[in-house]
Amino acid sequence: MTDALAIARELLRCPSVTPADAGALGVLERLLRAAGFEVHRVTFSEPGAADIDNLYARIGDTAPHLTFAGHTDVVPPGDVAAWSHDAFAGEVADGVLYGRGAVDMKGGIACSVAAVLDYLAANGGRPKGSISFLITGDEEDVAVNGTVKLLQWAAERGEKFDHCVLGEPSNVEALGDCIKIGRRGSLSGTLIVDGVQGHVAYPQRAANPVPEIARLITALSDDPLDHGNEQFPPSNLEFTSVDVGNAATNVIPAQARAKFNIRFNNQHSVETLRSLIEQRVAAAVSAGRLKARIEWLPSNSGAFVTKPGPFTDLVVAAIEQVTGRRPKLDTGGGTSDARFITHYCPVIEFGLVGQTMHKVDECTPVADLQQLTAVYRGVLDRYFA
Ligand SMILES: [Zn+2]
Repeated sequence: MTDALAIARELLRCPSVTPADAGALGVLERLLRAAGFEVHRVTFSEPGAADIDNLYARIGDTAPHLTFAGHTDVVPPGDVAAWSHDAFAGEVADGVLYGRGAVDMKGGIACSVAAVLDYLAANGGRPKGSISFLITGDEEDVAVNGTVKLLQWAAERGEKFDHCVLGEPSNVEALGDCIKIGRRGSLSGTLIVDGVQGHVAYPQRAANPVPEIARLITALSDDPLDHGNEQFPPSNLEFTSVDVGNAATNVIPAQARAKFNIRFNNQHSVETLRSLIEQRVAAAVSAGRLKARIEWLPSNSGAFVTKPGPFTDLVVAAIEQVTGRRPKLDTGGGTSDARFITHYCPVIEFGLVGQTMHKVDECTPVADLQQLTAVYRGVLDRYFA
């Protein structure tokens, strides 16, 4: 049995804080080449961003093609003195592996590699189809030289994926409690109300944007965007700041601004959502000298869902057999690279337990690494059966 713990420790010892690779992809390249994979290292560039190293490895040349996706970059350790174990030493204490990336997501990658190597060893060294790894070093920061470009690069080579397992830490409390089958989209904007500046003693000569923006904030917050559906909770608009920037007590300000973010389900696209909000603002704004508008931030995160079916069923079966838990099919939480992969093939996310990700003393029980490896191994057996 190939040891996920040994692979994870080797990965954790590479301090691959985005954009550094620090040897992490080389660990995977060596293991996968030795197992017969064709391995490509691809570097992507973008003005104003660091060059990033990525890896694509494939074995087999027929369908079905199952790809394991992930990222080897990690967030910074923060206050290193606050860690009880060195963030980049891969130490094990009392059956727990410590280190930045232990759960997000070097541990998950180690389990997928260990499971695939074990599957190949048990099946004459070749899959009954194709297995690949899509691994980026650019997920945790601006993510411009990572999965998006790697997927485009692979498509230009003629690579076709049938299904993808992304090993992000999907579980909430215990291994097996949650598979992510989709994600909500995210859209941010600023509501701007322009009035007319003036002396507070002569309000008839001014138009005050402050009460107006308060009314618009209430109107936009109170009116539901939808009522949710089988896969998703209702979409939610949250105001995050209100700014007037007025230091004087005797001046009616010219402008008021309020920032908001919307986490939305698959009943909207970025475009339909923008026009819905703009319509609501236009309908709620007072007649007269006040003008309201919205400045949108660009968004590349639409909502998506991988509909439950044979693929999710086989992953659920593998999880249940190993962990005894029946996972919830969930779409909560933030965004991930799955939002890009979904344009190429159905994708689900299943990895370690996310509780310590991005925290001091990020860690995972070694037992979870063993169980996750067994789950992935079960997925491979069922997928290529
Ligand atoms: Zn991650």
